[in-house]
Amino acid sequence: MSAVYPLRPKVPVASQKYPSTVLDVAAALKKRYHDFNHYNLKEPLDELLFIICSTKTGEASYRNTFRSLKETFPTHLRIAEAPAEYIAQPIVSGGLSNQKAKAIRNLFDVIMAKFGEPTLKPLRKMCDRDAEAFLLSLPGVGKKVARCVLMYSLGRQVFPVDTHCWRIARRLGWVRPTQKDKHCAPRDMDRLQSKIPLELRYSLHVNMISLGRETCTPTAPRCDECPISAWCPKIGVARIRQ
Ligand code: SF4
Repeated sequence: MSAVYPLRPKVPVASQKYPSTVLDVAAALKKRYHDFNHYNLKEPLDELLFIICSTKTGEASYRNTFRSLKETFPTHLRIAEAPAEYIAQPIVSGGLSNQKAKAIRNLFDVIMAKFGEPTLKPLRKMCDRDAEAFLLSLPGVGKKVARCVLMYSLGRQVFPVDTHCWRIARRLGWVRPTQKDKHCAPRDMDRLQSKIPLELRYSLHVNMISLGRETCTPTAPRCDECPISAWCPKIGVARIRQ
């Protein structure tokens, strides 16, 4: 039996700065997913470690490896003093442990050189632009990761564009990729962020991740179960590559 989709409501002419559907989509996603935070962390250096642990591994696995890392090294100072091969041991179950351990080692070396101790707390006193520039200066940290730390740990009103946010924003017609391969370039992240009102950035980010995992999946979106199908031009036809 074919899916029955709701009628698309009339939306006002998009004369404003933001796509006309942003407010409606944000409200519908919040109602379904309640701003679930995906276990991200309030402490900025822990958040960076959490993100490194999460690289190319499943959610249950990276939560375990992060917990194991913290049990082995209860303080950041203990990590700062450890060789990469020691850091690799507690995170081995998450895969790529040697690469992740080297990334953590490099990160801590740069932070120690900059602040004299393993901390990112000085970022709390920086403006958004300076804090983002500092994070981007760290080895292995790109714009998405920097904005995750800014948003989750430092409470800044930024919009990290991960693979789910990027895919869903494109399907909604909020942004067009500038790259031929449709990957999200740093300037695409800036363009999309500029289309999201400050006060909706956190909510939309976390709820688009929930939607992308549950319903608006990369290859077979379940549009008949989607809470925002009423505002989606790709309803029932989205089969696009990431
Ligand atoms: S209607 Fe389908 S393609 Fe559009 S956001 Fe929902 S699941 Fe994704």
